[in-house]
Amino acid sequence: MKLAVIGAGLTGLSAAYELKDCFKIKVFEKREVGGLASSYCPSYCIEKFYHHCFRRDEELIQLIKRLGLHSKLVWKTVRTGQEFGGKIYPVNTPLEILRYPGMSIMDKVKLALFTLKCRKMNEEDFIRYDDVSAVEGIKKELGERLLNSFFVPLLRSKFGDYGNVSYAWLLARVAIRGNRKAGGEELGYLRHGFQQLFDRMLDELESSNVEVVRGAVKKVERTGNWVVNGESFDAVLWTAPIPVLRCVNDRLTEVLGIKDVKYQSSICVLLSSEKEITEDIYWSNVNCSFGAVIEHTHFMPFEDYGENLIYLAGYTYPESELMKLSSRDVIRIYLRDLVRFGVKEEDVRWARLFRAKYSGPVYERGYRNRITPYRSKAEGFYIAGMTSKPNYPERSMNGSVKSGREVAEVIKSDFGF
Ligand SMILES: Cc1cc2nc3c(=O)[nH]c(=O)nc-3n(C[C@H](O)[C@H](O)[C@H](O)COP(=O)(O)OP(=O)(O)OC[C@H]3O[C@@H](n4cnc5c(N)ncnc54)[C@H](O)[C@@H]3O)c2cc1C
Repeated sequence: MKLAVIGAGLTGLSAAYELKDCFKIKVFEKREVGGLASSYCPSYCIEKFYHHCFRRDEELIQLIKRLGLHSKLVWKTVRTGQEFGGKIYPVNTPLEILRYPGMSIMDKVKLALFTLKCRKMNEEDFIRYDDVSAVEGIKKELGERLLNSFFVPLLRSKFGDYGNVSYAWLLARVAIRGNRKAGGEELGYLRHGFQQLFDRMLDELESSNVEVVRGAVKKVERTGNWVVNGESFDAVLWTAPIPVLRCVNDRLTEVLGIKDVKYQSSICVLLSSEKEITEDIYWSNVNCSFGAVIEHTHFMPFEDYGENLIYLAGYTYPESELMKLSSRDVIRIYLRDLVRFGVKEEDVRWARLFRAKYSGPVYERGYRNRITPYRSKAEGFYIAGMTSKPNYPERSMNGSVKSGREVAEVIKSDFGF
């Protein structure tokens, strides 16, 4: 039995890993193994887009263990900051939150109570708000001032065009991320980079005769069997973004019964700076051309890299100007705004731009009905990845590993394994 897996991100690799003993597998990858979690590797490896994991990421941690990398998994309570008037304030301990000048005491109390309320909610509670927009929901629950001063900047930095984002998504997000320890949030990382995960997976797959080929899938057709780039397969597993499938074969998406999903795009400028931006904060929410400053070397030791590594991260949409401008122009725009945090262009040793056109679904109102099932309407064609159920309410490495494993179970059962 021959299986084509399209995409060698975490979903495609995890599925291939589970199915390697049942099928003759060929994995097609357009760019790099690891997809959105792939790395830039000068003399060390660092993810192109910031990455960390959580204690609750059971599937990812299990995979790390199976690959013999568990001793490399490290945990650290990191500090968070919030910009107000061009200055970044730490907002981790009750005292720091009290001292933050960007919000009245009353609003801080309201926000704390709202977080507690979200943490008590369950799946059924969230579903009730799937058709309500986050803007409407927050306005009703917390009022216009908190909406505009706190939630709008966060929504804008996360989605760019946020008007239709669902309240169900926001409530679920607050419930998950509100579960912090005193003093900060505990995050995990594979010391020296998640690239090691992909290298190990690739080694194991290739030694099990799984073929991983570089190059884009340009054509998928059905002529009795499934035909991918001219080669015949018994089944296909699609893990690349849904809009790419539409480009490959527009008529196929109707046959498969796939609903359209709106995607967001990601932009990260990764830079090495002579200066740190904050003393010890890992993640700062800011309000300029980028939405977050992420100081990686306040998370992992400076000695692992020998330089201060900082991400300037923002989200936009696929058709936006920022996705069309040259790398040099985007870097110039971001570095111009970095000056307000005390880092000038001459302090920057090097900067690289990474952009992903389809970096995650936009969780719009009614999104739950658009979650893609693993089995398509056409026999032998499966879909898994960022639009699968394990990646709601937030796409993550864990969600992709889980969707890869779950779709593998479905494929096995359909083919009688
Ligand atoms: C800015 C950013 C920060 C993130 N931070 C975190 C984090 O801190 N923690 C966390 O858990 N998750 C994080 N994520 C999410 C995580 O990276 C993804 O959820 C996960 O890596 C997605 O894996 P995937 O295999 O489902 O999709 P992808 O990684 O998108 O893999 C799909 C693959 O398909 C390939 N492809 C596309 N078109 C074709 C084609 N025509 N032919 C062949 N191949 C094709 C692509 O090149 C890609 O490799 C982050 C994502 C972004 C964008």
